[in-house]
Order: sequence, then C-alpha cells, then structure tokens
Amino acid sequence: MQEIVGEALAKRLIDWGVDTVFGLPGDGINGLMEGFRRQRERLRFVLVHHEEAAAFMATGHAKATGRLGVCAATSGPGAIHLLNGLYDAKMDHVPVLAITGMQETSVLGTQYQQEVQTTQLYQDVAGAYNLMVTNPQQVPGVVDIAIRHALAKRTVVHLTFPNDIQVAAAAADPYRHVSPGAPPASSPVLSRPPAPAADEELGRAAAVLDAGQKVAMLVGIGARYAREEVLAVADALGAPIVKTLPGKQVVPDEHPFTTGGLGLLGTKPSEELMEECDTLLMVGTSFPYGSYLPSPGQARVVQIDRDASQIGIRLPVEVAVTADARVALRQLLPLLRRHDERSFLTKHQRGRDTWREEMKALQDPGRTPIAPQYLIGCVDELAADDAILTCDSGTIATWSARHWTIRGGREYYLSGNLASMAPGLPYAIGIQLAHPGRQVIAYVGDGGFAMLMAEFLTAARHELPVKVIINNNNAYGQILWEQIILGYPEYAVRHPEPEPDFAVWARSCGGYGVKVTDPGQLPGAVREALAYPGPALVDCSVNPNEPPMPGKVRYEQAKEFTEAFLRGEPNRIATLATVARDKINELRK
Ligand code: FAD
Repeated sequence: MQEIVGEALAKRLIDWGVDTVFGLPGDGINGLMEGFRRQRERLRFVLVHHEEAAAFMATGHAKATGRLGVCAATSGPGAIHLLNGLYDAKMDHVPVLAITGMQETSVLGTQYQQEVQTTQLYQDVAGAYNLMVTNPQQVPGVVDIAIRHALAKRTVVHLTFPNDIQVAAAAADPYRHVSPGAPPASSPVLSRPPAPAADEELGRAAAVLDAGQKVAMLVGIGARYAREEVLAVADALGAPIVKTLPGKQVVPDEHPFTTGGLGLLGTKPSEELMEECDTLLMVGTSFPYGSYLPSPGQARVVQIDRDASQIGIRLPVEVAVTADARVALRQLLPLLRRHDERSFLTKHQRGRDTWREEMKALQDPGRTPIAPQYLIGCVDELAADDAILTCDSGTIATWSARHWTIRGGREYYLSGNLASMAPGLPYAIGIQLAHPGRQVIAYVGDGGFAMLMAEFLTAARHELPVKVIINNNNAYGQILWEQIILGYPEYAVRHPEPEPDFAVWARSCGGYGVKVTDPGQLPGAVREALAYPGPALVDCSVNPNEPPMPGKVRYEQAKEFTEAFLRGEPNRIATLATVARDKINELRK
C-alpha cells in the first residue's frame, strides 16, 4: 500500500518516542486519521469528547512525563477548541505539538466551509514553530524541526495539513536534514546534557549566599528533578524552603526545612519569612506575585533558571545563574560555607508547626455542611503514597495547596500560569495513560467539572481507573470570594438549588459514582472510590460559605471584606458564622 503523508507523520512521531495522540477526528483530518490507523499498533489514538480536553490531556501528559505531548483536531472549530489547553502548555512551559487539518490547497482563500486561517490564529500560542505543510516533501523534516522547537523551548508548536497533502503519496525523496533524538524521560532537554552553570556565576552566587544571615529559598517546578540538591543546599545555608504551588512536589510537605507555599494560597510562616529574609535563592521559578516577595532593597537575590529570559522578571536579581537547577545546585554546594547559625530557620519552623496544627483543625469531621478541608483531608489520608493529584482552578486550589500532603512519590499538577478552569479531569486521563499503575485523582470543583464532564465518559470508554473528587459548593466559589475581597457583594456566582448529582452521570457512564452530603459517609465513599478498579467519582456537597482565607490576612483584605458585607453581601450571616467558628476553634486550642 502506498504510504501517504498522514502515515509518514505517524511514523515520525513514533520515531520521536511519541506513543499517544489525544484528539477528535473530523473531515479536516481524515488523511491524518488514516495514517494514525495504519500505525495504531505503535501509536495510540485517545478519542475524546472535546478538543479542549485533548489539549489538556496532552499538556498533563507532558507535565507528568517531561516528554512531548501531542494532540490533534480537525480544521476550523476543532482547531479553535484546542486553543485553551494549548495556552496552558505554553504558559507552564511544557512541550506540546498540535496537529490540525486545513481545507485542501485548491480551495484555500475561497471562504470554503471551515476555512479558518489557523496559522494566523495560532501565531501567538505556537509562534515558536507554526507551519502549514504544503508539499509532501516537507515531511518528515518539518515534523522534526517542530518537535525540536517544542522540546528545546519548552513550548507549543503547530503543524496544519491541508486535506490533499494528508493523502498525497509520501515523498520518495523527503526533506531529511534532521533526525530524531528522542530524549529519555528523566532528561527532557535535547541532544545535550542539562546545561551546567558558568564558574564565574557560581562563585558570585556563593559569595552572596555565604554573606547572608537570613537566607531563604524559593523553589518552583523547575527544581522538580532536584529534590536532593535543594535539600542539601538548604541544609548548608540553614535556609527554610518556600515552595510555589506548582513546585509543591519538589520537597515533601512534612520535611522540616519547608514552610510550604507562598501567596494568597500560601502559608503564614512562608509569608513572614519572606518579609524578613536578607538573602533569597530562587530556583526554577517565575512566581508571579511580587507583593509576596521581599520588598525592594530588602534582600540580595540569586536566581537559577535554565531560561535566561525568565531571570529578573519578578524582582531585581544580583546574581543570575543560567543553568539546569539540579546541575547548578550540585555545582554550588561545595562552594558554600555551612551556616551553623540556625535561628532564622528554627523561628519559622515553629511558625510552620503552629500553622499545621491550625490547618489540621480545619479538617473538622463534625461539621455540616461538610467542610471542604475535611473532604481533601480524607483524600489526603486515604490516597496512596505515590498518588498523583490534578487540581482545577478555584477554591480547590487553596484546599489542595494546604491539605494535600506531598509525601513519598506523590505528585501535584494544576494549570499554574493560565489558571484555567477544567483541566483537572483531562490532566488525570493524560497522566493515567502515562502511569497506568498509579492512583491518579482529579480534584475538581463542580464548576470546572461541569465544563468538561463528558471526559468522564472518555475515561470509562478507555477503561482508565481515574478517580474524580468533586468539591461541590454549587457555586463559582473562588470568584465569589474574589468579588467579596474587592469589596463587592457577590453577584451571579451561585447556582440555584438543588445542586446536580454528578454521581448519576458517573454511573451512567459505567463507572462508580456516589453522592455524599453527610460527613459520616465521606471516608467510606472515598475509600471505595479509590479501591474501585475502574473510573470512580465522589460528588461531595461542601459548605459554600467556607472562605479560602489568605495565610496572613492583610489590612486591605480585611477592609474590603468588611465593606462587601456592609454593602449587602447576601450570604453574610452564613459566611460570618463560618469565619467566627474557625476563629473560636483556633482560640480554643
Ligand atoms: P513556572 O511559572 O512554570 O516557572 C518555572 C520556571 O522554572 C521557569 O522559569 C522555567 O524556565 C524554569 N525551569 C524549568 N525547568 C528548569 C530546570 N530544569 N532548571 C532550571 N530552571 C527550570 N502559585 C503560588 O505559588 N501561590 C499561590 O498562591 C497561587 N495561587 C494560585 C491560585 C490559583 C487558583 C491557580 C490556578 C494558580 C495559583 N498559583 C499560585 C500558580 C501561579 O499562578 C503560578 O503558576 C506559579 O506560582 C508559578 O510557579 P513556578 O514558578 O513553580 O512555575
């Protein structure tokens, strides 16, 4: 059988180590689908229900493996639907190849059905490499170049194939000036080992860090493969480790050196130590919230990032070290003197212990409606030590930041910089395919789940045992609190009662589904869902008036909160009761 371009594409993806394409067919990609079909033994096509989910699945897959994610969609609407998931990949620096279809070349420019100028549309998200393939001879060369751009720049690339090109005979004499060099999973950098730091930069970094009296570390997801090195450097410097939210998995939450997260979802001790430190070592992070970083002139800053363009964008940096985090920290360690003075560390360790007790108290099983902290507390307690939690954007991000404990081989993923709703379930599907033997849990709100809930059917149809835990407050809870914090009474953020029972949907898909309204049922329901061999869902009604409080309430926040209430916040009684009860519990201790 004559090889067509669609098959040449599929084979080249396989050469690059790609084993999964997430997507949805359409008449704009029939030639590509035929190519994927011919290679179906080696290249799995995961049929989804919405292209946005396909892009999130590819992104989740790439986040959890460090490898290239691939998604495919038809021309026009299919390509448009991919976009949100692709922006998530771009903004969180993960490599994803988007493949789309295009009208055949003979009708281009005639306003043909579904003729959308996809390369123009994708120029922002996939500007690193964004091409319409117009000659079979370009394949596989341009596939190689696109993938190299994605992996080297940790970003999104896009190839669109007109219908006639997809089914054209693959060229006997293709463009082949490049060749695959599929990277191992542990080292996503191409064709060379992770970059070491320059000696001169390291020497200056060591001098700044050695001179510090109150040294703190801020580590992000870029330090993901550098746990041991982060801990060793923190030990040498006597430095508490603060973690970004995506960087939560870098160091176990119970390790004595870490005070947890930073920012609105962070911890009080992390915020306080940032206000006090005189030296800050940032590793693999572009933490965006400047008001939580040391004020101008307060601290000397050393930043390690493998991408020079990311250094110094949040605060002035005295020493920039452009290198891979693990390699640079290994190089740095022998240059550091050991800081035996530990009072800065021990002071904030005490704060951290108090904080943990406060968080534990909020996981109160005795409250009705169920406290959201109790729900995530149950999941945290019952999940495996190597479970992977994917989280949506919303109040669930706060609860998981504080009550999902990284221990053992646990991992945690969310849409960090795009902060999109709805990736939790598709991420879980993409990750479950990469890690079939592990427990993968999507922890989502009712809002995010409702957006892409059809993907529970995808999980069932592909026999994937993903677990879905819905923190159901029947509202857009995060937005509700943001409106109040701005001083406005809430508006258009709560759904009418009764809330839906998503468990019915799970069961109708052939999975396990249970609705929980009584706290006494919760541990049993979570335990059963986690043990279920197929996809399972726990739809838990939680208190919609539980505020996701900042680690440390600032004066402005308290003022706006009060003003919203004075301006007629409709649920002020229930909310005040919740806040007062938490405060009383705290004082009682
Ligand atoms: P990124 O922004 O992805 O930065 C990673 C950096 O590491 C990049 O500069 C990259 O170049 C570099 N890098 C990658 N690999 C390597 C390597 N091998 N070696 C060296 N460098 C490397 N985040 C918080 O921290 N606190 C919050 O309170 C918070 N609230 C949020 C609330 C919601 C609802 C949501 C959805 C998100 C929230 N986030 C919060 C996430 C936040 O928006 C940012 O995404 C996050 O702070 C950035 O984390 P990061 O710096 O680890 O990751």
